[in-house]
Amino acid sequence: MGALLKKYPIFFIFVGSIKFTNMKKQILTSIMLACPLFFFAQKNEQMAQKIMDEVYKNSQIEQLAHELMDDIGPRLVGTPQMKKAHDWAVAKYTSWGIPAENQKYGEWKAWERGITHIDMLSPRVQTLMGTQLAWSPGTSSKGVTAEVIVIPTVSDSIAFQKWLPSVKGKIVMIGMLQPTGRPDHDWKEWATTASFDKMKTEREAQKQAWEANLKKTGYTKRTLPEALEKNGAVAIVDSYWSNGFGAQKVFGAKTKKVPTVDMHLEDYSMLYRMVEHGDKPIIKIVAESKDLGIAPTFNTIAQIKGSEFPNDYVLLSAHFDSWDGGTGATDNGTGTVLMMEVMRVLKKLYPNPKRTIIVGHWGSEEQGLNGSRAFVVDHPEIVQNIQVAFNQDNGTGRIQSINGSGFINAYDYLSRWLKAVPDTIQKVDTYFPGEPGRGGTDYASFIAAGVPSFNLNSLSWSYGNYTWHTNLDTYDKIVFDDMKNNVVLTAILAYMASEDNEKASRERMLLPVDPKTGERQTWPEIKQPERKGGF
Ligand SMILES: [Zn+2]
Repeated sequence: MGALLKKYPIFFIFVGSIKFTNMKKQILTSIMLACPLFFFAQKNEQMAQKIMDEVYKNSQIEQLAHELMDDIGPRLVGTPQMKKAHDWAVAKYTSWGIPAENQKYGEWKAWERGITHIDMLSPRVQTLMGTQLAWSPGTSSKGVTAEVIVIPTVSDSIAFQKWLPSVKGKIVMIGMLQPTGRPDHDWKEWATTASFDKMKTEREAQKQAWEANLKKTGYTKRTLPEALEKNGAVAIVDSYWSNGFGAQKVFGAKTKKVPTVDMHLEDYSMLYRMVEHGDKPIIKIVAESKDLGIAPTFNTIAQIKGSEFPNDYVLLSAHFDSWDGGTGATDNGTGTVLMMEVMRVLKKLYPNPKRTIIVGHWGSEEQGLNGSRAFVVDHPEIVQNIQVAFNQDNGTGRIQSINGSGFINAYDYLSRWLKAVPDTIQKVDTYFPGEPGRGGTDYASFIAAGVPSFNLNSLSWSYGNYTWHTNLDTYDKIVFDDMKNNVVLTAILAYMASEDNEKASRERMLLPVDPKTGERQTWPEIKQPERKGGF
């Protein structure tokens, strides 16, 4: 009763105005039994309890995470693993009695990662840590062996053009030498304040000098690799340190013919210093990969049909694809497995929802929300009838906040739905009216279409430095207790949104004036997906 009192204060204010004589207590009991609001509250509480029991006693998330991250692996758009993951999800839903399908929306360059192996051969032998970038051209199994050079300091683009032919037959390092391999949190813990400040000042100066020199070459980080390969470089080595011990970000290659690899900070900076000292290091790069032509791109869609309003939808949203330096565990394996487990639990406990509960596992979010943008454009009949969309895409942590996305009445329904969540679940802070998201993850595709669409923001667990798009984004970083918290929360939100007699208001806030331009901001517009990409 205590929990009920906390969650339904309006009802109990009404009850509280009655004087408690014995006879009146009986009347009160009859009122309570007859009151639909009371029943509604009791029904919600029972459902929340059932969900808790299922999630904590019969969790499938460990198994799902193992199959997805360890067995299938990373899910880069255009790779056979991405297709395998889509088929796996359809098979899982089918085994739970939930209709599911892969909906093709476009095409992408088809590519498959192979073995990367990098060794220093001279002046001494050492195996180096690194991996080829996504969609990188490959080498034969014999690899390429060459001397390593770095980008010189130049006076202007003419000087750089004069230098360019000297890259012929060489492996070129294109990233800046990091002054330290220790993350800032480590410096903060151990250094004197003076030496930490000195390091930061020097690092900033070095960064600015590096960028100024790059500008003088006449190229950018994006255009430089192609200029190097055109002038005969045999491979490109970069190092995108993620400011954490052992953490490297691994994105896509910009070369068309020769391989591009990312090398760990430790080995990269060693080679760089050797070049600067005239040691003329020679390395061998084996980077096997296959260009497989063209691959179709998909969204996986599954749904539990509504019994009262089958053409009204509660949308659960999480992108399915990942970068492939790790296995895409926290970006977005955890969001994926979360939504799958929510669907499994709801199908078991709430098989006849009022509204249709639909889940979208989007393809190619990482290249510009392509899957969800395609869904918005291709399915107006669904999109205009979405009651609410919940998206999750920032890691394994407990969901801790929801921003009202600029829907002016979101405070009303979201607050009501959140009241059904038991106290043992992480409290969710809400920000109303918030502001409409313009990108970053798939909720933005739906906001642009006017759908009340909310990101379920989770606690960081060092996401930005350690797991987001890094080699360390792997199963071992998943915090299953936090994920179970999120399954309970999301399942209850979906249930409440489905049961609500009212349709969630889509009324938008008047956006503020942008202080920079002096003009009123406008609502984000629907954007077209990239339906043929990667070439
Ligand atoms: Zn993501």
